[in-house]
Amino acid sequence: MNATDATAFIRSIYGAEGFIPLHAPVFVGNEKAYLAECIDTTFVSYVGKFVERFEQAVKDHTGAKHAVACSSGTAALHMALVAGGVRPGDLVLMPALTFVATANAVRYCQADPFFIDTDRRDLGFDLDQLADHLANGTERRADGVYDKGTGRRIGACLPVHLFGHVARLDELVELCAKHGITLIEDSAEAMGSFFKGRHAGTFGRIGVLSFNGNKTITTGGGGMVITDDEAVAKRIRHVTTTAKVPHRWEFFHDELGYNYRLTNVNAAIGLAQMEQLERYITSKRTIAGKYAAFFNEGPYRHFAEPKDCRSNYWLNVLLLPDRSERDAFLAHSNDNGVMTRPAWTLMNKLPMYKDCPALSLEGAQWLEDRLVNIPSTPLV
Ligand SMILES: *Cc1c(COP(=O)(O)O)cnc(C)c1O
Repeated sequence: MNATDATAFIRSIYGAEGFIPLHAPVFVGNEKAYLAECIDTTFVSYVGKFVERFEQAVKDHTGAKHAVACSSGTAALHMALVAGGVRPGDLVLMPALTFVATANAVRYCQADPFFIDTDRRDLGFDLDQLADHLANGTERRADGVYDKGTGRRIGACLPVHLFGHVARLDELVELCAKHGITLIEDSAEAMGSFFKGRHAGTFGRIGVLSFNGNKTITTGGGGMVITDDEAVAKRIRHVTTTAKVPHRWEFFHDELGYNYRLTNVNAAIGLAQMEQLERYITSKRTIAGKYAAFFNEGPYRHFAEPKDCRSNYWLNVLLLPDRSERDAFLAHSNDNGVMTRPAWTLMNKLPMYKDCPALSLEGAQWLEDRLVNIPSTPLV
């Protein structure tokens, strides 16, 4: 296996000619009809029936009791952390290997990330490291669990289901419960992914989904909070609409609010996309199967869904032998019109997060050196 063979194989799936994007949105359903309805009825903004229908479709698919559509996945994450009880000065347990939005949402709460390592076998938290730190590096006080090293409260545990893969979530749920830490799932990449038959984002107190343009389904821009906790859903509905107390004419806002709700136009696209989700995932899993068969065990290893996970295979992952082979493949594929990209630079290396507390990040660094994403658009 070399960069030329790998690039040629990707082309054999997506076409011999032209540019092949990493993940393009696909519109083959009711998108145009629903958008026309928004315009014809003039309901283009926060009021309108598509927001509710889109939320209902996500509830039906995920099994969550409540869903609140937001203007982006980042906004949804921010609100999940606020409603989940993260306070200024807190630490939030999260991986260093993630998209920057995870860390940004923590910082919007005037809290800081506490970086935990990533398990190279399944892309989840290094649970041994996390369990060890919670057992030996924290202490229980009246208002929560405190990190002994920094003296700061741990506001939440925020795992990320990277590229749609969900790993050992049952163990993480148990660990958080044992230590009394609120679990909030960044499931932004995991729409349509299941663990032991349950949808990602429904294991913790709150889960977050993203519908950005390159995600499995899109609303253009948008996100959603899912939860079984009615009080959390109510609070998020309230603060995402400027915390306005309902009244026929008075404007009274009872706490700091945000303009974070999804518009009817975006929700109209989202509903049409939800109607296609199963087709997309069937196709994405077929493509993942072809990649798995071709790349097999190496030296460009295709990353397979972890045990007990039915992944959406949002972005397929290859693990290359080392950083120089990674860079050679990235250069060759992109030079030849096949879009590929490396893992994100670890969060602890970004200027705004370089001073945040962290445990050893050996696994995350190993992955940063080797991981690439390859084209994964559904073919429907
Ligand atoms: C996409 C993404 C987000 C943010 O979603 P937006 O809708 O782009 O704001 C958050 N976390 C992760 C891991 C993501 O991949």
